Amino acid sequence: MSIAERLVSIRQRIPHTTRLIAVSKNHPAEAILEAYSVGQRLFGENKAQELVQKAPLLPSDIEWHFIGHLQRNKVRAIIPFVSLIHSVDSLRLLEEIDAEARRAGKVVSCLLQFHIAEEESKFGLDEDEASALLQSSAYAGMKNVRIAGVMGMATLTDDMDRVRREFIHLKEIFDWLKLNFFADESVFRELSMGMTSDMDIAIEEGSTLIRIGTAIFGDR
Ligand SMILES: *Cc1c(COP(=O)(O)O)cnc(C)c1O
Repeated sequence: MSIAERLVSIRQRIPHTTRLIAVSKNHPAEAILEAYSVGQRLFGENKAQELVQKAPLLPSDIEWHFIGHLQRNKVRAIIPFVSLIHSVDSLRLLEEIDAEARRAGKVVSCLLQFHIAEEESKFGLDEDEASALLQSSAYAGMKNVRIAGVMGMATLTDDMDRVRREFIHLKEIFDWLKLNFFADESVFRELSMGMTSDMDIAIEEGSTLIRIGTAIFGDR
């Protein structure tokens, strides 16, 4: 199957309440253009350098999401291109994004990334850390970031009951944050969860943004 055919078949599995991010990391501009040619406008990259190299070569109506771990010294480079950063996992990173967004005259939308998986290696906040971040005076003073929801990655496992429990946990975190910190903010509405191996479960558990690479572009 071609990229275009795979995209079309995945779209048939997704309800209108979930948006599909085509994760184009490790794939060249030509592959992105093939997806673009069948209407895909939302793409995700996980490395700052790769995003900064590819984005200027591609149509300007592409909406780029940054989904990978973000180092503070890479924030300035990606700000001109990103419309949503999925991977905010510390106050210091959010402060850097706010400062660079101000410098660029932008307001940048961000998701708080939570650690929901069993593995030690996955990045992300826990509830206490998120609560401290959102109650900090530093956060209260930020004018150039807007928190639009949460993101998480489930454990890489064949145990789909575990994956489902982890997604349910992320949805609970989303609901708790919404109630306690964002009750009046309609922009707080995104639940970014689900990849190639677990997209159907993520959708069943309320995902609004699924991040799909392999099922669209193949292995790389
Ligand atoms: C690579 C990546 C994806 C997509 O993974 P696939 O299994 O290829 O669909 C999703 N989210 C993040 C954060 C990634 O790095």
